[in-house]
Amino acid sequence: MNAKVWLVGAGPGDPELLTLKAVRALKEADVVLIDDLVNGAILEHCPEARIVAVGKRGGCRSTPQAFIHRLMLRYARQGKCVVRLKGGDPCIFGRGGEEAQWLRERGVEVELVNGITAGLAGATQCDIPLTLRGVARGVTLVTAHTQDGSSLNWQALAQGGTTLVIYMGVAKLSEIREQLLAGGMAADTPVAMIENASLPHQRECRSDLTGMEEDAYAFELKSPAILVIGAVAAREENLKIAAFGSSYRLNAEFV
Ligand code: SAH
Repeated sequence: MNAKVWLVGAGPGDPELLTLKAVRALKEADVVLIDDLVNGAILEHCPEARIVAVGKRGGCRSTPQAFIHRLMLRYARQGKCVVRLKGGDPCIFGRGGEEAQWLRERGVEVELVNGITAGLAGATQCDIPLTLRGVARGVTLVTAHTQDGSSLNWQALAQGGTTLVIYMGVAKLSEIREQLLAGGMAADTPVAMIENASLPHQRECRSDLTGMEEDAYAFELKSPAILVIGAVAAREENLKIAAFGSSYRLNAEFV
């Protein structure tokens, strides 16, 4: 039997946001390696499979990446159908690319299955249209957390004119705020902070660039959360005015 590993996105949490393809892979799975941001309810699709938790939260020490690699390889070489189930999309801050490459270099067939990434889900669940016509012409996904300590080009982000969706930002609010202000982003730029997107305990905190750190503190914002920064994160009533106003301005440019 050919060794195969499915790298599957489990979406942001709501089990109904899983793709049909993800469900099919789970139904076929003999072994499921599951990350900690994955909603356990999703495992109803693989009642017979062996479940191996390789998460990094819940007080456990993180499972070293090399160990996860070897585990997938071992099961695949035993001829088992392996599903590596990751939160959101496997290739958005999810190491899907490196895991696929590592396995393929060892002759293992890999199939990637999209999931809905938390940033997109969180925004939509809060009625934030990330690329609202006339307001934002693009969206940029960034992580505030880097392993090598390298820094982002904050000035480009501040002035790029796209909506920013920031992952892993809860512990970096102060830096994000300071760098975007220093980079020239307007102090009253709307900010939405969305915790546990798509889950029953989802919470959202609306603020602006100046107030985001203080407001998040008062709100007791906790990880996992995403930040949406840009005009589209304004409260609905302000957004309508913004969209209406700027669609007039932009008509000449677009049409
Ligand atoms: N591959 C994942 C991202 C993993 S990085 C994806 O595509 O969504 C982990 C970060 O994702 C968290 O720190 C948080 O910023 C974000 N995240 C994941 N699930 C989330 C959720 N349900 N609500 C809000 N943010 C979430």
